[in-house]
Amino acid sequence: MQPSPDRALVIVGHGSHLNSDSAAPIMQHTAALRTRADVRALFSWVQPAFWKEEPALGDVLSMLDCREVVVVPLFISEGYFTEQVIPRELGLSGPAPYHELVDGKWVHYCEPVGTHPHMTDVVIRRARTIIGGEPVSPDETAIVIVGHGTLRNENSALATVNQVAALRARGLYSEVEAVFLDQPPFVDQVTEVVRAGEIVVVPYFIADGYHTQEDIPEDLGIAAGRGVYQNPTVVAGRRIWYSGAVGTAPEVTDLILERAREALTEPPPTALPLPPACAAQQAFVAWVETAIRERGVAEFGQIAIRRSPPGFELTHHEDAPDANLATHTGLTYAEELARLTDAGEYRPLKSAPTLRHGWRLCPLDGPGLCRAVNGFYPASIVFWHQVREGTLAIVPWHETAARQTGMFRAARQLTAQQAQDVAWACCDRSVCLKRLLWDLDAQTPLELDRGQGALVCREACSLFVSMARTVVTSERPAPTTVELSPADLESLRALFGAALVGVALDREGEVDAPLNRRRLRYLLRKIERADRG
Ligand code: SF4
Repeated sequence: MQPSPDRALVIVGHGSHLNSDSAAPIMQHTAALRTRADVRALFSWVQPAFWKEEPALGDVLSMLDCREVVVVPLFISEGYFTEQVIPRELGLSGPAPYHELVDGKWVHYCEPVGTHPHMTDVVIRRARTIIGGEPVSPDETAIVIVGHGTLRNENSALATVNQVAALRARGLYSEVEAVFLDQPPFVDQVTEVVRAGEIVVVPYFIADGYHTQEDIPEDLGIAAGRGVYQNPTVVAGRRIWYSGAVGTAPEVTDLILERAREALTEPPPTALPLPPACAAQQAFVAWVETAIRERGVAEFGQIAIRRSPPGFELTHHEDAPDANLATHTGLTYAEELARLTDAGEYRPLKSAPTLRHGWRLCPLDGPGLCRAVNGFYPASIVFWHQVREGTLAIVPWHETAARQTGMFRAARQLTAQQAQDVAWACCDRSVCLKRLLWDLDAQTPLELDRGQGALVCREACSLFVSMARTVVTSERPAPTTVELSPADLESLRALFGAALVGVALDREGEVDAPLNRRRLRYLLRKIERADRG
């Protein structure tokens, strides 16, 4: 199953546990690139990867069956993520642009898309599009770029400031200025920083999310409801035109490809071994064929795989194969189907037992089957195979914790008892289908039912890390002591049990919210421990 060309393109984004907005531009550009003939001539596959979603950065190289990989960060600027987090999680030792052998793969790491010189054209086009056919003269118009900014890191504003300089150099607009969410001049000062009667405001952000759809419109004074605003809106006698985030512009697809092309200057230094994912996929298809021959169906997580001549079809394992299911044919539907539950809620954890029902994916040949399964359960095939072969690298919690930086550094302080309780809250089969393989360290095993099944967990996921951080920060300083009788504890336990099945819970990834399922399980665990004395 060696792909041709033997090269993959990975687009990296931040991602989020809370909603799919953050990943939307990555998925948009991934989908656009996968359909292009010029991309397929260079890359056999385009793969998204994330810091706070799946596929995780730490897993993405393992799941690819190509020997050469180009990694393009879809970030607005150089900084903490592009210079520290992404190289560290991918196992790279240098900043971009950089080429390195990582676990037998020749990896090219590119500079972020947001610093590409042609981003200025994207901003100009955004501004022109938003004004549309209105008779607005550019030389009577100010353009204002909104950056995040923060006084804690002077690099945070740099990409926005550089963009302002590049726009001024074009001489197209009477004034070009920057405002920021988190440092002066602030967004609500927009009518003070420019004099023009027409003001075009372009958010220099990758994704349209809370900042671009709520914070900025509010601060500009154009919000007419949550995520609702009119173009133009008159504020203090000036007309304000507001565009979407630059990262969602269709032209950014071309810039991702340009970044990738720029990296292809260094050929692999040596003949490279066949990636483990190739043997894994072959073994997986053989396992599926055997299961279908013997039982008529192969089950993997919540997926049922059956014959659909000349290939395979996938359905939810609880859906009857002859049910009236919506049939999808494209490989990328697996990623889409995996994003939301039946109720339309966002699934930050692909191994949560909440895969939606009512679909059929077919027909799939062997490689297509593996791509689709990886779309539902990223990196699951290669790890499944490595468990069978005894070659899976399992990462204990103390190593995962030691890698955490920035706001997640607090997770390093998780005590052994807290870690046991977080694992009980997060990794139970009722919230995650993976068989947990890691321990706290060589001397301290996790004491819980590790689950069964083909999906395996070789390292604590980003949701576990978030929960660990929440526990550490919320239990510092020492929690209030409340004396409860056995009857009180009994009532609380019953209340938690009822809440876990009976009420609308907070979002799955919102682990610091009071009615989050994992948080409630964590409290239930503490109560049960207290009750046992
Ligand atoms: S750490 Fe726990 S919740 Fe996360 S993937 Fe592993 S088993 Fe599932």
